[in-house]
Amino acid sequence: MTPDNSPKIVFNRPKTTVAPKKNDQIIVDDVLENVNFRISSKAHIVLNSTICEGCSDRRCLIACPASLFVETSNGSMIFNYENCFECGTCYLVCNQEGAITWNYPTGGYGVDFLHS
Ligand code: SF4
Ligand code: SF4
Repeated sequence: MTPDNSPKIVFNRPKTTVAPKKNDQIIVDDVLENVNFRISSKAHIVLNSTICEGCSDRRCLIACPASLFVETSNGSMIFNYENCFECGTCYLVCNQEGAITWNYPTGGYGVDFLHS
């Protein structure tokens, strides 16, 4: 549970939508301006396409703050690991055992949250 006085993260999608900005809120678009990704050639998160095809609720689609899961017109799932925040949400919400193989990127790669 988030304490009342903690900053709240607001997922501002689509990007063309201008969400009201309050002093105690962090807009994800603002976060993205302060993030770098050092992309490895090896995916640190891998989906089991067979398991995903049989998934009816597809929680990853709405849970991933970076919108990295995409459902194709034929119902299969595409995942792009490149701009992953490494938050672990997809792994936590997925209720299909073995669907997601999740690791942190290898050393020197992955997300870098810049500080001003
Ligand atoms: S990753 Fe998990 S929640 Fe997402 S489609 Fe696959 S089985 Fe479903
Ligand atoms: S770890 Fe977070 S940002 Fe990365 S794919 Fe999963 S939900 Fe999306």
